Amino acid sequence: MDGLPFPCRPRRGTVAPIWLVVGLAIVCIALAVVSSAHRADLVALEREQTLISHALADRQNRLLREAEYIAAADEALQRLWLEPDADWIHQQIGMRLQGPLSGALVLVVDPASGRVRRLAGDAALPADQIAAALREIASLLAPITPEASSSPPLTMRGTLHEPPPARSAARMQRFAGEPAFVAAAALNADGRGDVRSSPILVIVKLISSGFLREVGEQLELPDLRLVDETATDPASNFFAPKNQAGETIARFAWTPNRPGAAIIWDTLPFVGIALGFFVALAGFVLRYARRTTATIAAGEDRLRYMAMHDPLSGLPNRMLFGERLDALIGDVRQGHATAALLSIDLDHFKDVNDTLGHHVGDALIGAVAQRLRGAVRGEDLVARLGGDEFAVLTRGPTDQRHLQEIAERIIAVVSAPYAVAGHTLVIGASIGIVVVDRDSRDSADIMRFADMALYRAKNEGRNRACIYDAAMNADLTQRKQLERDLRSAIERNGLAIAYQPQLSPDGERIIGVEALCRWPDPVRGLVPPSTFIAVAEQSELIIPLGEWVLRRACMDGRIWPDVTVAVNVSPLQFRRPDFVEVVQRILEQTGFDPRRLELELTESTLLGNVEGAESAMRRLKTLGVKFALDDFGTGYSSLLYLRTFPFDKLKIDRSFVNNIESAADAAAIVHAIISLGRGLGMKVTAEGVENANQQLFLRAAGVHAMQGYLFGHPVEATEIARRLATQAPATEPERQRRLVAG
Ligand code: C2E
Ligand code: MG
Ligand code: MG
Repeated sequence: MDGLPFPCRPRRGTVAPIWLVVGLAIVCIALAVVSSAHRADLVALEREQTLISHALADRQNRLLREAEYIAAADEALQRLWLEPDADWIHQQIGMRLQGPLSGALVLVVDPASGRVRRLAGDAALPADQIAAALREIASLLAPITPEASSSPPLTMRGTLHEPPPARSAARMQRFAGEPAFVAAAALNADGRGDVRSSPILVIVKLISSGFLREVGEQLELPDLRLVDETATDPASNFFAPKNQAGETIARFAWTPNRPGAAIIWDTLPFVGIALGFFVALAGFVLRYARRTTATIAAGEDRLRYMAMHDPLSGLPNRMLFGERLDALIGDVRQGHATAALLSIDLDHFKDVNDTLGHHVGDALIGAVAQRLRGAVRGEDLVARLGGDEFAVLTRGPTDQRHLQEIAERIIAVVSAPYAVAGHTLVIGASIGIVVVDRDSRDSADIMRFADMALYRAKNEGRNRACIYDAAMNADLTQRKQLERDLRSAIERNGLAIAYQPQLSPDGERIIGVEALCRWPDPVRGLVPPSTFIAVAEQSELIIPLGEWVLRRACMDGRIWPDVTVAVNVSPLQFRRPDFVEVVQRILEQTGFDPRRLELELTESTLLGNVEGAESAMRRLKTLGVKFALDDFGTGYSSLLYLRTFPFDKLKIDRSFVNNIESAADAAAIVHAIISLGRGLGMKVTAEGVENANQQLFLRAAGVHAMQGYLFGHPVEATEIARRLATQAPATEPERQRRLVAG
């Protein structure tokens, strides 16, 4: 349930963007290569188209020059039109038909009459087709035969004064449904006839596949050919020159060089190598990043673990416990099963820490943690809240019987003896239990209730468990009220002292009295010290209370000659740094003989404060003040303490005296304590003597003094004075002996 250890998670969030960048880079490089290849293909296409168009223009110009050459001959009009001369025609034209004019159709057209004479070319072409074809080239001939009115008279070609009308023209166009070069030139009239109405030499040369093959070879454009307008072929490039009206004259196709593909193939190895490196680099960076991320994540997890766990026990600490408790409260409110919080406090742990040192205390905490873990189910949460405080969160059944069972199991495992650093240690556990149900408010309340239940468990005698109920809240309120009332009683001088006599072993003489604080509350009546001393100690009211008792006892004791006045000192009071000064001042102010003052300390007063306690005791002892170790046998009963601290007296706890008649071991303990005290040169007083048998036993055992109801209950000072008045005064030697020995 503590959800540990925290796993190391790889951070996918940091890896994804890197792969994205790598992917994008690869796509960009690929796009760049493909787009430059495409661009190169486009440039190549444009170049190829330009080359073809130049080749076509070149062929067209050559044809024009042929036409001009023939038409410009001196006798051209005469021999070609007026009086056709076969020899001359053969010489001028027929010779060329083997060369540049091979396959060409050569005609002479008279624009004025519309007559046509075929000089060379396809004889099969019927005259009506030639007429139709001539109509197609009419627009070409029109500029060559301008109207007499709109054009200046033709004099000489190249006259400087007037720009001569064009006498020749050429173009590519469709002729009889086929693409062809057409060149036209007006025949040289040679001074005869009207130049403007000269017949025109027309040469038509169809664009043949042979011509295209030749051009294709020259331009290195394989398979240059004519195709129809609808032809499609992804493996070919196309070029379709248009006339002025935007109509397609011809459509050429050829197998392109496609340098783009070459670029791609050429760059592919380099791009591949670069990409390989890039991917490898990205992979390396990613691996490094992943490792770093994993290291950071592990570090974060470790930090979180440390922040949430107690280093000593390895258990979740208060912070993690608080988080889990909040989550649990939320779950229960949403309808999950009820749960319970067990607040565990170790009994006597502090004593171990104080007497045997922190290293033993630390080891003990580790052992307790381990046992607690073993005592609950795996899904229950065990936490160390601090010092000797632990807590368990359990989701099991929350009926009283079940919870008590868990608590008893925990108490049993914690209370079993521990072997730590060569010591056998026994501690206990008190447990406060609170049920987390749908009515639970918040974790602060739950913790407060658990504390109340724990307080009750401790008050009821420790090593037990109490389940919180609403009445405890009322108890706490009552305790707070008690505290307020006690404070005002101290301030208003509302306390009193009862003195209990301490007698010589024969029970004849009162040799001392113990001052016991009383609180007669107007409403509650006489509040027992077991109630108000505990409240005073928890609220530190014990400091003014203790001072008040000491002062009062010293004042009262002044009039009781030869009697020791014993005053109880609480641990809190004794540990104050000014304790010696306070006692000294009270003694001075009251004028009480310090040699008749006996301060009763319990072993818990000395724990963990060895040096401070010893020096305070020694300083007071120089004044003559005596010390008694109260309730001996109930605490640690440490022999070391008896040797270290300068006690004058041991007070055997009344629980042993009570049992001396019935329990043999109690009698043996009393004997042992008496001989121990005597052995160490101390006086021994027995407390709680209630009957004559006990007195006989103790007297025979050799106690120096006895205190108990047999000799008198705690009574007012006046009663003590009355009893003292009836007993014979101590003899001088006895008085001196008592003052010296205590
Ligand atoms: P304590 O110092 O051990 O005092 C003796 C207690 O035993 C007294 O209880 C006394 O009334 C009771 N007692 C004496 N003889 C008998 C007997 O024969 N039978 C039984 N059953 N009891 C007997 P008390 O007055 O109720 O005081 C209880 C404890 O409260 C004291 O135990 C002492 O520890 C503490 N206390 C009382 N007054 C003061 C005080 O002024 N200052 C401090 N710090 N503690 C005080
Ligand atoms: Mg006492
Ligand atoms: Mg006592």
